[in-house]
Amino acid sequence: AAKTQERNTYRLYSPIMQADARKRLALAAELRQALARGEFRLVFQPSVDMRNGKVVAVEALLRWRHPARGEVSPGEFIPMAEKLGLIRHVDDWVLQAVARQMRQWDEEGMPPIRVAVNISAASYGAPHFAEEVRRWLVAERVAPQRLLLEITEGAILRLGDEMERTMNALHALGVGVAIDDFGTGYSSMAYLKLPAIAFLKIDKSFVDGLPGSSHDAAIVEAMLALSKRLGLCAIAEGIETEAQHEFLLRAGCTEGQGYLYARALEVPEIERMLRPGQRPGSARLRLV
Ligand code: C2E
Ligand code: MG
Ligand code: MG
Ligand code: MG
Repeated sequence: AAKTQERNTYRLYSPIMQADARKRLALAAELRQALARGEFRLVFQPSVDMRNGKVVAVEALLRWRHPARGEVSPGEFIPMAEKLGLIRHVDDWVLQAVARQMRQWDEEGMPPIRVAVNISAASYGAPHFAEEVRRWLVAERVAPQRLLLEITEGAILRLGDEMERTMNALHALGVGVAIDDFGTGYSSMAYLKLPAIAFLKIDKSFVDGLPGSSHDAAIVEAMLALSKRLGLCAIAEGIETEAQHEFLLRAGCTEGQGYLYARALEVPEIERMLRPGQRPGSARLRLV
């Protein structure tokens, strides 16, 4: 313990930490301007039917290209936006951008696939969130059934009554919700009864150990059994190897995402992949 403490004390005053803190402060200031300056864009990671390799959905993932620093990871700027109270603006921008992209794809004759969007707790907790979602869908004439909103377990539990109200409003609207990173938060399971919840995304941390780890195998099998009994659709995240793919498929998982199939792709790349009659970029992918 003394050693840890010593290390912490050292870290607290280290010049590296000070530089880190300075960098974070500067980044926070720049994050406020990033939206207005058009530095955000969306990339899209395919989700495939593991039985036949067809792309059945895409997940929108946010990217920030800082003019001087280059690409900043969402793992860094999303928590920052949450802390600074900017995440509502970010989520709103993402929703609008996704709805607009979906309409554009419709006009270009792309297959009407599902699009998943990551939304933070603060947005789900905001009083008119479902109404804002409805507004963007109506503005771009997108069917609500084609939008899937992702929420992490931790986010669900941090919110109380507003969460249930929002979930029910989304359900009434016809928008489905997926539990993201399932199994990594403080699972209470009670929220699985909410009618809006339609998908469970099995976190990459459980997929990583497949097929070798008997613990991960047992956990994943239990999650698949649970989703089946509840009538939910399971999506496995972070599939990187053939062995993981084979295990999951045999265990009854039919939808997956991961580098084995495709990384998050820029808009022209995803369009090339989705356009009818195109050849798949990866041997694993077959086209709709
Ligand atoms: P997430 O929603 O769980 O997204 C999955 C992350 O894992 C993505 O990272 C994706 O690129 C990465 N990934 C997918 N397949 C693989 C794989 O096979 N191997 C490995 N190593 N990684 C894989 P990304 O894009 O850096 O996003 C990180 C997190 O940031 C997301 O986790 C999500 O929680 C958050 N995020 C991303 N975009 C948004 C957004 O628009 N709004 C909000 N609120 N959060 C976002
Ligand atoms: Mg996600
Ligand atoms: Mg996830
Ligand atoms: Mg995850």
